[in-house]
Amino acid sequence: MSRRIGVMGGTFDPIHHGHLVAAEEARWQFDLDTVVFVPTGQPWQKPVGVSPAEDRYQMTVIATASNPAFTVSRLEIDHQGPTYTVDTLRRLRAEQPEGTRLFFITGADAVLQILTWKEPDQVLALSEFIAATRPGFDLDSLVNQVPGAAGRVHRVDIPALAISSSDVRGRVARGAPIQYLVPDGVARYIQKHRLYRGPAGG
Ligand code: ATP
Ligand code: MG
Repeated sequence: MSRRIGVMGGTFDPIHHGHLVAAEEARWQFDLDTVVFVPTGQPWQKPVGVSPAEDRYQMTVIATASNPAFTVSRLEIDHQGPTYTVDTLRRLRAEQPEGTRLFFITGADAVLQILTWKEPDQVLALSEFIAATRPGFDLDSLVNQVPGAAGRVHRVDIPALAISSSDVRGRVARGAPIQYLVPDGVARYIQKHRLYRGPAGG
């Protein structure tokens, strides 16, 4: 059987249990061999206040270390300048044997952005999509707005976790607990490196 690889892109500033639940549920429901987490390099769409790529990478490694099916790629963080999903998917595809099926895993909010950014037709040709439900976003109406998405975007219903990285950053900034929202190792990393202590939570 051909290999099936999940790809989960994100800023991961920081990675939290919403990301991990979405990735694991997608792995299980779609019988994926691996899920590759790809932290973004210099995200041009979130230019201010993003933590150093190396911190986001380390936290992603810590959070995924115990899952034998999860790996983390430096593809985007080692790349100078902005990276586009379409380029990442091309590179990942080039590394894989012929016939490998790629599944880009996103939350309901991100699927529309990714499929309308750069070369949406190419993105959809390179990879199928697994869009995880996320509280506050109507996935079906979002997907209906993307031409050519029908049949290439699959829906995965995950236990709703209203967790976001922005909320986690805000909580750290005001001294609220983040235990149980992020893996313990990530919480300890944030504390050790004094991330998100600034007034804006960045
Ligand atoms: P921020 O609040 O900074 O935007 P975020 O929590 O949305 O952070 P990202 O790194 O922007 O995290 O998201 C990476 C991917 O994970 C996106 O596809 C996003 O939709 C998805 N995702 C994030 N949180 C959840 C969640 N709680 N449930 C389902 N999907 C999620
Ligand atoms: Mg987001």
